[in-house]
Amino acid sequence: MNEKGVLIVLSGPSGSGKDTVLDEIAKIIPIQRSISMTTREKRVNEANNIDYIFVDRDHFEKCIRDEDVLEYVEYSGNYYGTPKGPIDKWLEEGKTVVLKIEVRGAENIKKIYPNAVTVFIVPPSFETLENRLRRRNSEKEEDISKRLETARYEISCAHDFDYVIINDELDDAISDLNTIIKAERLKNNKMKFFKSEV
Ligand code: 5GP
Repeated sequence: MNEKGVLIVLSGPSGSGKDTVLDEIAKIIPIQRSISMTTREKRVNEANNIDYIFVDRDHFEKCIRDEDVLEYVEYSGNYYGTPKGPIDKWLEEGKTVVLKIEVRGAENIKKIYPNAVTVFIVPPSFETLENRLRRRNSEKEEDISKRLETARYEISCAHDFDYVIINDELDDAISDLNTIIKAERLKNNKMKFFKSEV
C-alpha cells in the first residue's frame, strides 16, 4: 500500500454497533467507504448500492471466477465480498478508506495490504450483543442463533487486531475510532515529512 491514504478494516460481531459507529464517524471526518457485494436479502431499511450491492448467487460466483472481488467469504449462508474497484485509487488520492468486513476478510485484506489498520469493535458483554440482535428484529430466530455462534468465534479472533474498541457508550466508541484514524494519518505525515527532508 502506498503511504498517502490509510486503509481501515473495521470488524466486529453482528450487533456490536459497528454500523452505527461508522455512520456517525462519517458525519465528523471524511471517510471513503467501500460498498461490499452480498447475496443476503436486503433489509427494509437498506438501499441497493448504498448499504450493499445486492446480487444473486450466480452473479456473485461469476465475480469470483472473474476475480472481481478482493476477498470474499460465506457468512451465515450468504456470500459477502469486497469489490476490487477503486481501493488503490482512493489510497493513492490520500483518502481514509474503510472496509466494514468480518474477521476472515480482515485477515485476507491484511495479507494483501500489510499496512492496513485493523480495528475490532466489541459490545461490553455477550448479553448486550444478544439483546441488540434481538431488538433489531430483522432476523429470524434461526439466523440470530447462527449469528451468536459466529460472534463467539469472531470475538475469539479479536486479539489479532491492531485495536479493540469496546462499544459501551456510543460517543466514546466514536471518539476512539476518530483517535485511531487521526493517529494513523499522523504516522503517514511522519513518512511524508522525512521523505521530503532527506
Ligand atoms: P450483515 O449481514 O450484518 O450486513 O453482515 C454480516 C457480516 O458480514 C458483518 O460482519 C459484515 O461486516 C460482514 N461483511 C460485509 N461485507 C463484507 C465483505 O465484503 N467481506 C467480508 N469478508 N465480510 C463482509
